[in-house]
Amino acid sequence: MQVFNYGAEWQKNWLQALKTDKTIGFVPTMGALHEGHLELIRASKKSTDFTVVSIFVNPIQFNSQEDFEKYPILTSQDLDLLQKEKVDFVYLPNQESIYPEKPIINLDFGNLERVLEGKFRPGHFSGVGIIVSKLFNIIRPNIAFFGQKDLQQVAIIKKIVTDLSFPLKVSIVPTVREKDGLALSSRNMRLSIEEREKALILFNNLEFAKNELLAGNKWLAVRKQIIHAFKDEPLAKLDYFELVDPETFQVFEEFDRSKKSSICVASFIGNVRLIDNLPIIP
Ligand code: AMP
Repeated sequence: MQVFNYGAEWQKNWLQALKTDKTIGFVPTMGALHEGHLELIRASKKSTDFTVVSIFVNPIQFNSQEDFEKYPILTSQDLDLLQKEKVDFVYLPNQESIYPEKPIINLDFGNLERVLEGKFRPGHFSGVGIIVSKLFNIIRPNIAFFGQKDLQQVAIIKKIVTDLSFPLKVSIVPTVREKDGLALSSRNMRLSIEEREKALILFNNLEFAKNELLAGNKWLAVRKQIIHAFKDEPLAKLDYFELVDPETFQVFEEFDRSKKSSICVASFIGNVRLIDNLPIIP
């Protein structure tokens, strides 16, 4: 496994891959790696010749300084995991090399970012769009791998690739969960034992809502019941619980079996903000 810190170091490997007709898979992460990240890496290793994993906690996508400062950094543990997965290359850039200056451009994803994560985290997707574009330009992968766990991010990244003609394919990996259903997230390690138990409220209500919809119950009535359930849990603070088109992020007021639909949720559990989603009609 080769670790590098600067884009210039990668260029000779990229050229070599190009000359020898080898494909490059890329898995961008913010580290504190868990099975969810490892599934992306396994998907990349399965379908490409070389896998590059980046670890970079991107300051410009955080809209809370506290969230940024508390983001777990576990680089040596991460490198051990990556070595075990037989990853070929790890890109560990520092802040100065990625942002020699604070970017002045701002990306606006229109209606895609007026709702859900975009609404509750202003500027977040611009920050995601900028770092992902930079990383695509530096690594120049053939396939980039992202998790369905961050569903709105997937829609945003697909839009960047289309709108800016990045010459690569985006591949999506289903959400990896704990046995009880909690979606794996680097933020889960900030939960206390009690909060970890209460965090199940996200997945449990996604499942409940899915079953209710498939049984023919009305979405707005189901949603109202769920909002009450969150209000009754003192450790939870719900940001949103919405039924959406997973590609356009149009928010639905009613469930229609003929339309692609996913339910998305974001809630604080204590001080930790968690998100999750469940496809209803994939
Ligand atoms: P992060 O390090 O949180 O920025 O995540 C890096 C990549 O891993 C993103 O594409 C995420 O969507 C993906 N990811 C995070 N958690 C999971 C999970 N539980 N299952 C699948 N993919 C995930």
